[in-house]
Amino acid sequence: MEKQNRQMDVVDNSKQNTEAGKQELYLYSLRKMAEDNVERNKSPLTRLQNLRSFFYTGGEIIRENPKEQFALIAMDIAQFKAVNEFCGRDAGDALLAAIAEVFRELDAERPMTISSHARADVFAMLTAYQEEQELVDIVLRIKKVIDEFPIDCKVLPAFGIATAQGEQPAISYLKDCATMALNTIKGKFYASYAFFDEKMRKQQMMEKKIENNIVTALKNGEFALYIQPKVDMATGQIVGGEALVRWVDPNYGVISPGDFLPVLEKNGFVIDLDTYIWEQVFQMQSRLLSEGRKPVPVSVNVSRVHAFDECFCDTLCRLSEQYQVEPSYVPLELTESAFLWDEQGMYQRLETLQSKGFIASMDDFGTGFSTMNMLKNQSMDEVKVDQTFIRDLETNEKSRIMIRHTIRMLQELDTDIIVEGVETEEQRKFLLDCGCKAAQGYLFYRPMPWQDFVALL
Ligand code: C2E
Ligand code: MG
Ligand code: MG
Repeated sequence: MEKQNRQMDVVDNSKQNTEAGKQELYLYSLRKMAEDNVERNKSPLTRLQNLRSFFYTGGEIIRENPKEQFALIAMDIAQFKAVNEFCGRDAGDALLAAIAEVFRELDAERPMTISSHARADVFAMLTAYQEEQELVDIVLRIKKVIDEFPIDCKVLPAFGIATAQGEQPAISYLKDCATMALNTIKGKFYASYAFFDEKMRKQQMMEKKIENNIVTALKNGEFALYIQPKVDMATGQIVGGEALVRWVDPNYGVISPGDFLPVLEKNGFVIDLDTYIWEQVFQMQSRLLSEGRKPVPVSVNVSRVHAFDECFCDTLCRLSEQYQVEPSYVPLELTESAFLWDEQGMYQRLETLQSKGFIASMDDFGTGFSTMNMLKNQSMDEVKVDQTFIRDLETNEKSRIMIRHTIRMLQELDTDIIVEGVETEEQRKFLLDCGCKAAQGYLFYRPMPWQDFVALL
C-alpha cells in the first residue's frame, strides 16, 4: 500500500464542512481503517498479508490500473505437513521464511505487485505483467530458492498461474482459477507450474453451472433415466438392464454423468440424485408388473457418498415396499470406493440389504486396489468386470490370460459374472469361449431412454 503512494494523509480542512468534504473525510477514514487492517493482517512469520487483506489490496491495485494486464500466481507445497514432521517445525518455518523473502523481494522489484501468505504453505502473488515468460521466470526464481534450501526433505512446490483476459476480473476469481491450475499438478514431480487454460475454464464454468442449477434441475425433472440392456451373449436375449442417469439441460443438451457426478459427490447432492433415479426404476418396474408383464432386473448405481448416509438402506427398503417391487428386480451396483471410508459399516449395511433380498453387484471389477480383498471378505452376488479389462483383448495375449483366469476364479467363487463394454464380435466370441455369458456393451445396445427400453422388452 505504501507503494501506491496515496496522497490522502492530509485532508483539506476547508472542505470539511461541505457535504463533499464530509464524504471525502468519511471515505478517507474508511480507507485508513482498511490500511491499518492490512498492517494487522500480516502473518507474523512472513510479514506478508493474509488472504483477506491481499484480496482487498490486490483488488484496489487492479481497480486503480484498469489498463494493465494482471496475473495471479498461487503456490502450494505438496505434503508440507511431512516437512514439518520429518524435519521439525523450526526447519519448516525457516523454509517458509525463505520463501516469503523472495516474494517480498519480488513485491519490491515489480510495480503493481502484492504477495500474500494465505496459510501454512500457501502463498499467492498478484502482479501486472506484459509477457507470460515474466510469470514463468517468477515461478522459477521462487522454485530455485526452495530447491536450494538446505533441508533433509524433498520439497515439491506447485504453482498455478491465472492470467486475466479481457475485462478486469475479481481477484478472488483469479485466485480460484490459479488454485484450480495448481491442483492439476500438485504433488507431481514432473511439473512445477500450470497455467489456467480454456479447458479448465470450461470445467469451472460447468462446475459452477452445476452447483447453481442442480436443485432446479432436480425439481424440473431435467435428469433422465437411461437404461442400457444387459444381454445373454449366446442368444442375444435381454436379461437385465442398468440405470444410467443423463442430464438433459435445455441449453447444453445431454450431459453425461462423468461431467457432473464429481461435482455432485463433492456437495453431497448425489444422494438426492441417486434416490431420484432409484425411485424412477422402482416406478418403472412397478408399472410393468401392474401391466402383468414380467420385468427383468434393472440395476442401479450406488454412489460411494452413501457410505456416509445411514438412511440409504431405509430408502431402498421403503421404495421396494411403496412400489410393491421385490428387491431382486433392482440390484445394487457398488464400486470398491464405496467401502473406503467406513468399510465395516458398509459391509454391514450391504448384508442387511442382502438379507432383505437385494442383490449386490461389484461394479468396475479389476480397476481398483482392493477388489480382490473385497471378494474374499464380502459376499458379492455378482461381479461386473470393467471394460478396461477387455479393451485390448484382441492384441494382448496377457490380457487374454488374465480374463480367462479371472472368469474361472469368479466361477469357482460362485459369483455371477457380467462383462462391461463389449464392443466387438471378437470380444464376444472370446468371452463366450471362456464360459462367460452375460454382457453389456455397445456391440449390443447403447444406453437408451427408459421408454425405449420398455418398448424393447
Ligand atoms: P458404470 O456404472 O460402470 O456404467 C457403465 C458405463 O459404461 C456407462 O457410462 C455406459 O454408457 C458405458 N458403456 C457401456 N457399454 C460401453 C461400451 O461398449 N463402450 C464404452 N466405451 N462404454 C460403454 P455412463 O453412462 O457415462 O456412466 C458412467 C458412470 O457414471 C457409470 O459407470 C457409473 O459409475 C456412473 N453413473 C451413471 N449413472 C449413475 C447414477 O444414477 N448414480 C450414480 N451414483 N452413478 C451413476
Ligand atoms: Mg454401474
Ligand atoms: Mg462399471
